[in-house]
Amino acid sequence: MTRTVLISGAGIAGSVAAYWLSRGGFVPTVVEKAPDLRRTGGHAVDLAGVAIEVIERMGLLPAVQDARVRRDGLVFHRRRGAPVRMPRLSATISDRHVEIQRDDLVSILYDAAAPHAEYLFDDTVTAVGDEGGGVAVEFQNSAPRTFDLVIGADGLHSRVRRLVFGPEERFRHDLGACLSVFSHANTLALDREVLGYADVDRTAFAYAVEDGRRARALLLFRPGTVAAVDLRDRRQRLNLVHDAFGDIEHLLPFAIDAAEESDDFYFDTISQLRMETWSHGRITLVGDAAYSPGPAVGGGTALAVLGAYVLADELTGAGGDHRAAYERTETVMRQPVAQSRKVGPSALARLVPRSRLAARTTPHLMKLLTRLPRSATRALFSLQGSGSHTLDDFSSAAAR
Ligand SMILES: Cc1cc2nc3c(=O)[nH]c(=O)nc-3n(C[C@H](O)[C@H](O)[C@H](O)COP(=O)(O)OP(=O)(O)OC[C@H]3O[C@@H](n4cnc5c(N)ncnc54)[C@H](O)[C@@H]3O)c2cc1C
Repeated sequence: MTRTVLISGAGIAGSVAAYWLSRGGFVPTVVEKAPDLRRTGGHAVDLAGVAIEVIERMGLLPAVQDARVRRDGLVFHRRRGAPVRMPRLSATISDRHVEIQRDDLVSILYDAAAPHAEYLFDDTVTAVGDEGGGVAVEFQNSAPRTFDLVIGADGLHSRVRRLVFGPEERFRHDLGACLSVFSHANTLALDREVLGYADVDRTAFAYAVEDGRRARALLLFRPGTVAAVDLRDRRQRLNLVHDAFGDIEHLLPFAIDAAEESDDFYFDTISQLRMETWSHGRITLVGDAAYSPGPAVGGGTALAVLGAYVLADELTGAGGDHRAAYERTETVMRQPVAQSRKVGPSALARLVPRSRLAARTTPHLMKLLTRLPRSATRALFSLQGSGSHTLDDFSSAAAR
């Protein structure tokens, strides 16, 4: 029996799910709102632990290693005192760790899944109706169709989640900080070193991208309040960035005005997604749509890769019983999701100092961490919740 699956979102979870579902005998269709993959957003993300094993089983580890970001270390500038220079912390946490630009990873996963799945770009789901025997789906541009199953892999602001489970506000828990990323001219000729600046409630990084042709700024900060701000309005988001960094612009390794001119200005609150269940009838959610641990702080990429693999694996082994597969997926993923949720707030506290003392000492503490024995740093960070697990610990296929 052929089983059709609609996956909303051609990001990380979407293409991993499409690949493994096609291997399991399903016929996946992926709908992506962006007109092409390069327009779905780029920033450095981390793959580690069992997520690397998923990538390896897809035969993609050489391509991912090849595309990985190569950095020598970080130089932290502060309001006062000499800059603090440190090697890459991630390299000391794990030797199975790859940092890669999100858009490179998305392209590699797409290339692996595309021969086995139908991709519809520049389109989105507008209605989903679970009719018992199938899910009737309406699209903005394509003709309506019915699928056996629907998977929402459409990120933190998932439309499938909103259509099926209700407004985002019910599930979103803000961690009290914002994140902005944008590309700008590489005026400082940054190469393999990351420049950082840490101050009370605000941290900024700048690093080279596109073979040094441009640089990218990553800002993390705690704004006074965002309650009165309409975050859908680009002008208001830019104002928040200005308010947070305008007075120290001369200390940053880029001009804040670059945000205004940037073609890829990204802004979001650092929020976690917490739901009682990720499934409803024939419809389920995966990745950030279901359990985002917070952009940039909780290892959401590794979690999305693992979650998509586990979901496909359970569906493949369920003999058509999608309810049982969805339930088992939630059971298997509960522990890594809970662990990522814990990591987010502590990673944020480490990255964005809360006091002058912390602003002064944070870079030194981070430097100290890079000098601890590897076993100690690993224990401290207990990577992405997967700890010392192997992929077989998360896989029903291994037990079959
Ligand atoms: C600036 C930034 C830095 C980050 N840094 C890190 C990091 O260092 N380490 C880490 O592990 N994680 C990091 N993350 C988080 C990471 O990017 C996500 O956790 C991860 O990409 C989740 O994958 P996903 O496939 O669930 O969602 P996404 O990668 O967000 O993919 C969702 C896809 O769905 C598409 N989509 C959205 N809405 C619709 C719709 N209505 N219809 C159709 N398609 C839709 C989007 O265009 C996108 O292609 C970072 C995130 C950001 C924003």
